[in-house]
Amino acid sequence: MNFDNEFLNRIKIILGDEYDDFISSLSNEKITSLRINSLKRNTDGNKDARTVLSDDGTRFTTDIKWEPYGYIYTEGYPGKHPLHEAGAYYIQEPSAMSPVHYLAPAPGEKILDLCAAPGGKSTQIASYMKGEGILVSNEIDKKRAQILSLNMERCAVANALVTNMEPGKLSEIFEGYFDKILVDAPCSGEGMFRKNDEAIENWSTENVSLCSKRQTDILKDAVKMLAPGGRLVYSTCTFAPEEDEYQAAKLLSMGLKPVKVDLFEDMVSGDIENLKKVLLNCENLIEDKEFVDNLPQYISDDIKICSGRLWPHKVKGEGHFFAVFEKEGEITKGTKLYGINGRIREAGKAELKLFSEFADGFLSDKGKKLKGTPFMMGDQLYLAPEGMPGIGGITVMRPGLHLGTVKNNRFEPSHSLALTLSKEDVNYSYELVDDADNDDKEKNSRKAMEFIGGMSFRIPDLTKGWYLMTAYGYSLGWAKYAGGVLKNHYPKGLRIYT
Ligand code: SAM
Repeated sequence: MNFDNEFLNRIKIILGDEYDDFISSLSNEKITSLRINSLKRNTDGNKDARTVLSDDGTRFTTDIKWEPYGYIYTEGYPGKHPLHEAGAYYIQEPSAMSPVHYLAPAPGEKILDLCAAPGGKSTQIASYMKGEGILVSNEIDKKRAQILSLNMERCAVANALVTNMEPGKLSEIFEGYFDKILVDAPCSGEGMFRKNDEAIENWSTENVSLCSKRQTDILKDAVKMLAPGGRLVYSTCTFAPEEDEYQAAKLLSMGLKPVKVDLFEDMVSGDIENLKKVLLNCENLIEDKEFVDNLPQYISDDIKICSGRLWPHKVKGEGHFFAVFEKEGEITKGTKLYGINGRIREAGKAELKLFSEFADGFLSDKGKKLKGTPFMMGDQLYLAPEGMPGIGGITVMRPGLHLGTVKNNRFEPSHSLALTLSKEDVNYSYELVDDADNDDKEKNSRKAMEFIGGMSFRIPDLTKGWYLMTAYGYSLGWAKYAGGVLKNHYPKGLRIYT
C-alpha cells in the first residue's frame, strides 16, 4: 500500500509510539460484521437469523461491545443469503456502529440523520426507536438517497421520512425541531484505507481541507435544527484532526455543551497536545484563521471528555471518530401534529375502503394495529407516523410507510408493507424453507432465492388471495394465489437472479 508521506507524517505526530502498530494494522484483514435488525421478527419456534447464518457457514467470532445486536464474523457470505433481502440484518463494520450508541435513540423521539446514505446508522437508529417517533433520514445525493430509501424499506423501518435535501434548505424547515441529530459527515475516509484502495489514492491535504470546510457548513445547519435540550452526535471515519477535534471545537464555539462520554475498552480520546501540533502546523488547511489562533482555548479538555477515537490497531474495526454535544435548554415533549401539505392529499373514503377490505381479508387482528395517518401521493397510499411534520417544500423519497397502490378500484399491497409485517400479522403466509434442519443448506435457501429471483410456484389447494412469503419465518414479500399458482409479486427492480 502506498500512503501519502504527508499522511504518514501527520499520523506519526498524532500517535507517537503507536505509529508502527497503526501502520502494521493496515495490512491486516478487514473486519467484517453485521447487526441483527431487531425490527424484524420471525415466528416462535423458528431459528433466529444468527443461528440460521451460523448453520449456513457464517462463523461468528466476537460480540461488539457497544452494539448488543452487533457481531463480528470471519467466514461465510451473509450478504448473499435470503435473510439479507428479508432485512433480518445489516452488514456494517463494528466501529461504524459506535456513534449510534452515543446518540442513544429512544422510542417517541424526533431524530434527524443528516448524512444518512447508505443507511447503516439510520437503520440502527430506527431499531432503537421501535417504530415510535419520527426519524428523518436525509441524503444530499439523489442516487445515494434512493439506496438509502431501499435499505430503510428492506429493514422494515415504518416511522421514517427519507429526504433528499441540502442541509441548509432542510434547516429552513426544521429550525429547532429535533431532539437528536446525527451528523455522520462526508470525510477524507482514512478509516477506509483497509477496505478501499480508492480512499488511499484520493487522500490529499487539499481534500482534508475541503472536507473540513464542508463539515463546518453542515454542522452550522445541524445546530440550527437541534431543539433546546437536544443531543447532537458528530462522527467521521477519518483520523484527520481538521475533520474531527477541530469540528468538535467549532461546535463548542457555536454554543453547544460537551457531553461526557464513557468510552469502551480500547476506545481513546485523542491526545490533544499532539492533535494541536498537527492543526497548528497545517493552519492553511483550515478556513477560519482567527479560530486557529484561538485554538488552544477551544481544543481543550472539554473535547477530550466528549469524544472518542476508534483506531484499527486498538479496536476490532476500521476506524471512527465521534463527539457528543447538547444544546442548552429543556426538551419539550409532544410533537407537532401531522399536517397534510405538499404533493400529498388526505386519503379519500373510497381509497380507505379498498385498504380496509384488504386488511379485513388478509391481516390478522394484530396486523390491523398499524398506527398513523393515511394519505395519498398520486395513486400510492402511505401511512405517516404519528406526529410526522408536513412535507411541503421537502424532496421526499419515502414519506412514512408505503401501504400500497390504489388503482382501477383495487388495492395492491406494497413490498414495504410485506417487510414490516410478520407471520402473526397476516391470515395467510407461505414458508419457503421446507426443513431448516436439513443438512443440504443450499437446498434450504433455494426456494427463497427463487422467490427473490421472481419465480412463481405451482401449489395445489390454497385459499385465493395474498400470501406473505417467508423464509425461516422472516417476511420476504408478497405472492398472490389464483388458479393453482402462487404468483410472484417481488418487485422487479429488486430481483436477484441466481
Ligand atoms: N451515515 C451513513 C451510514 O452509516 O450508512 C454514511 C454517511 S457517509 C459517511 C456521508 C454522506 O454524506 C454521504 O452519503 C454523502 O453523499 C453525504 N454528503 C456529501 N456532501 C454532503 C453535504 N454537503 N451535506 C450533507 N451530506 C453530504
